[in-house]
Amino acid sequence: MSDYILRATAADGNARIFIADAKETVEKARSLHNTTPVATAALGRTLIAAGIMGSMLKGKDDIVTLQIKGDGPLGGIVVTSDAAANVRGYVHNPFADIPEANRGKLDVAKAIGKGTLSVAMDIGLKEPYTGQIELVSGEIAEDLAYYYAKSQQTPSSVGLGVLINTDCSVKKAGGFIVQLMPEATDEFIGKLEDNILKMPYITDLLDMEMTPYNILDIILKDCKYQIVDKIPMQYKCNCSRERVERALISLGINELKDILEKEGEAKLFCNFCNTEYKFGSNEIKSLINKKS
Ligand code: ZN
Repeated sequence: MSDYILRATAADGNARIFIADAKETVEKARSLHNTTPVATAALGRTLIAAGIMGSMLKGKDDIVTLQIKGDGPLGGIVVTSDAAANVRGYVHNPFADIPEANRGKLDVAKAIGKGTLSVAMDIGLKEPYTGQIELVSGEIAEDLAYYYAKSQQTPSSVGLGVLINTDCSVKKAGGFIVQLMPEATDEFIGKLEDNILKMPYITDLLDMEMTPYNILDIILKDCKYQIVDKIPMQYKCNCSRERVERALISLGINELKDILEKEGEAKLFCNFCNTEYKFGSNEIKSLINKKS
């Protein structure tokens, strides 16, 4: 697995920068869900964002979940990441397709439509922290920047991109998030804004075989910075028969008896990795016995 997130700080710790190369991760999602190019781009961008946001989490059991609901043909997107940037996700309608916008650019905004972006952070508290915004563009990067400004009061610059081959596989995928703390100087902010304004799309840079290290140099041109961490990123579902069994048990005895009577078996499907878990009547009976 070659995907990773590079993490750096600049301006005496008043800026933090995350840059991801996520081609393998997005390609895994595409082959798993058999998504159309526009669905691959939308899901891919959200996975990259989640991976970076996951890498910002402190506890190893912390989870961030991004949910996009839209009235476009994709229907919606659900993506999660843990602190180790193990990401997984799905789009409600992976086969959605719409005509390409200008110059062959995939029209992610149209495929998503109008709607909301919500972010839930499960950091071991009783209730997960959640924030929600109305989508401002549907291109996901701008929406996330708006989320950070509005819900977190953190000025952020976000770039996310997925480049697709003619055979529909993923050619390049990556993204960056730059965040400023209140003490960042105007001089630094000016330089940073100028650099980001002048920089090409991240997918174009990756397509020139640039690495996150090279891209960091471009974003922080003429600024001092320190690389803090390099975090491997991958598509990984953590579902298992044991977890599904625990979910079934948590339904309670009455619900299990009901399933046994009406269905005779329980079929549970994991949307993240397309795995079906089947529990026959004997297994359900033994779950009921375990519980009582
Ligand atoms: Zn799964």
